[in-house]
Amino acid sequence: MIIDGKAVAREVQKEIKEEIEGLKRRWGMVPGLGVVLVGDDPASHLYVRLKEKSCKEVGIQSREHLLPASVSEKELLSLIHNLNQDKEIHGILVQLPLPAHIRSEKILEAVSPQKDVDGFHPFNQGMLLLGGEGFKPCTPMGIMKLLDSIGCDPKGKNVTVVGRSNIVGKPVALMLLARHATVTICHSRTARLKDEVGRADILIVAIGKAGLVRGDWIKPGAVVIDVGSNRLPSGKFAGDVEFESAKERASWISPVPGGVGPMTICMLLFNTLRAAKESLQREG
Ligand code: NDP
Repeated sequence: MIIDGKAVAREVQKEIKEEIEGLKRRWGMVPGLGVVLVGDDPASHLYVRLKEKSCKEVGIQSREHLLPASVSEKELLSLIHNLNQDKEIHGILVQLPLPAHIRSEKILEAVSPQKDVDGFHPFNQGMLLLGGEGFKPCTPMGIMKLLDSIGCDPKGKNVTVVGRSNIVGKPVALMLLARHATVTICHSRTARLKDEVGRADILIVAIGKAGLVRGDWIKPGAVVIDVGSNRLPSGKFAGDVEFESAKERASWISPVPGGVGPMTICMLLFNTLRAAKESLQREG
């Protein structure tokens, strides 16, 4: 069966919207998201537009800061500093990638961990490792929600995660471990990827290479979450898993587009709402 990420995202978004309406009614509070976009990469602009549209739909006020690719690291740090101080901004999103002359890690470290709705700050990444309550990265959170939506409990299952990036592979592996899965992480130097894939009751693929995972590698009945988002020469998007053959073997599979993508945005809204609620609590 196909996992309908759009439908799951719609449901979660409805709950977020209701909660935001409650915040406005009770406390007169409007959650605010500061969006920082550097340069003119068309994909980044597209992602930011989609995120802003979703913010509007649920009642989050997003404030965009568009900066030229020539901006200096110092100027960018000063903007982040201002956003950290801004009482109307509860979450900060720095769209990656940043231009090569800017050290991304410096910028991400400058974001207040309390406003780090992307969950990329070392403090929050560390909290995830330790099993604490920090902000978690949006795509892995979305993947966990998708698994929950089909009643798939990772406990005791063999899970193979292909990809070890800091934003998808590593954090999702930690979240699955926290839910008692037996997790294998694969990457470009993995010796027998096909065998590792074939062992998986749950397969999470986040590589960035269209159709690299073949359908006939997949264990019959496995749950497959395809994170890959690859633009084909035709302009269409495809996942990292060969969808047509994989869907014949998997019990559940997420499509591209319409699987993980909508969930990522949804979790950004969730984290922004959470940041706003936590700021209310801090203010007493
Ligand atoms: P990265 O490029 O940061 O990481 C890719 C990972 O894949 C690396 O760990 C790399 O291994 C591994 N890899 C590359 N080639 C192979 C191979 N032949 N066999 C096994 N592993 C391989 O990518 P991201 O994690 O940022 O993103 C992955 C994909 O997910 C992309 O298509 C991206 O667009 C998509 N994505 C989608 C999102 C959504 O919301 N839908 C959000 C985020 C990402 P190594 O570490 O050894 O180099």
